[in-house]
Amino acid sequence: MRFIHDSLPQRVRFATGAAPENLAAEVAALGAQRVMVIAGASERELADRVTAGLPVVHRHADVVMHVPVEVAERARAAAAASRADVLVSVGGGSTTGLAKAVALSTGLPIVAVPTTYAGSEATAVWGLTEDSVKTTGTDARVLPRAIVYDAALTLGLPVGLSVASGLNALAHCVDSMWAPRSDPINQALAAEGVRALRAGLPLVVKDQDGLEGREQALYGAYLSAVSFASAGSGLHHKTCHVLGGMFNLPHAQTHAVVLTHVLAFNAPYTEGAEQRLAAAFGSRTAVEGLTGLRDQLGAPRSLRDLGMPGEGVAAAAEAVVAAAPAGNPRPVTLDAITGLIHDAWEGVEPR
Ligand code: NAD
Repeated sequence: MRFIHDSLPQRVRFATGAAPENLAAEVAALGAQRVMVIAGASERELADRVTAGLPVVHRHADVVMHVPVEVAERARAAAAASRADVLVSVGGGSTTGLAKAVALSTGLPIVAVPTTYAGSEATAVWGLTEDSVKTTGTDARVLPRAIVYDAALTLGLPVGLSVASGLNALAHCVDSMWAPRSDPINQALAAEGVRALRAGLPLVVKDQDGLEGREQALYGAYLSAVSFASAGSGLHHKTCHVLGGMFNLPHAQTHAVVLTHVLAFNAPYTEGAEQRLAAAFGSRTAVEGLTGLRDQLGAPRSLRDLGMPGEGVAAAAEAVVAAAPAGNPRPVTLDAITGLIHDAWEGVEPR
């Protein structure tokens, strides 16, 4: 066995119902006295509750998916004007993403309080969008110093969004099995992430007010993000990045649709990973495990339903082939990717 593995420095506090005191402890540990709270409109009420006891100098609700540069600039100006010394983000990946954009240029520390399963809180990856083009990069300054997980904060997330977001997390795990820096450590985290998400998500759908499934899903989402941060973007993420950017598709739902197709494409070429994923799903094959879960959750199945135009398939396929990681286990040909995207667009079972 021979590999190089980096672990990211970050504290994780995980306790249902304890977000306010855990957050206060992290803000105090940083010695911070001027808190800027970032939370989008639908996360505002949660954020007010969780941050009630903190020395808040500014509450910022101007959050937009994929962090347009002008939105980032306004948040940076607000941080400077309020002389904030810590950023507290309460919300999904878009909210965490805006905090990262501020941290990138100011160096301010972030304490993240996630309310979806996107997992941005556990990565040092930032993203900014200008003229419909999203640029991403990695910078240690944007990694939140601490994460405060509280499954009770996800109770308000509608079931459809919980499912899509959960499958987005599952996609981090699956892609980690063959991504450019995949190694035994991130594969082990990814497999445990699949197990937890597979156990938790059906419970979230079945019992919307229950916390057991939401805890499992949140734990799985954290593992998925850690494995993804370490392994990097594989074919699945490159495909979703292209599709999302070209057709402005919703992030989590696009992942939910595309994942079965990329798994079916790569699985026959990655025996070890395939068996490991199948075991984590508790199914005969990995693809059976994933399609079974998708059906059980009533997840979205077609890119057409998400708003992608059919005539976009050819251009998307070319862009995916150009962006595909060199080490993908199966050769990424234009024919194969055109078929894959067409199937995902139509919403048929993977080949
Ligand atoms: P999101 O943050 O846009 O949230 C989706 C919607 O759900 C929003 O309207 C939000 O206000 C609402 N919401 C969030 N939590 C809620 C709750 N508990 N109750 C009710 N409503 C709630 O979507 P997302 O899927 O979490 O994040 C997507 C973004 O994150 C994308 O821009 C993606 O690129 C980015 N992302 C980045 C990384 C990274 O490592 N940098 C990783 C994953 C995702």
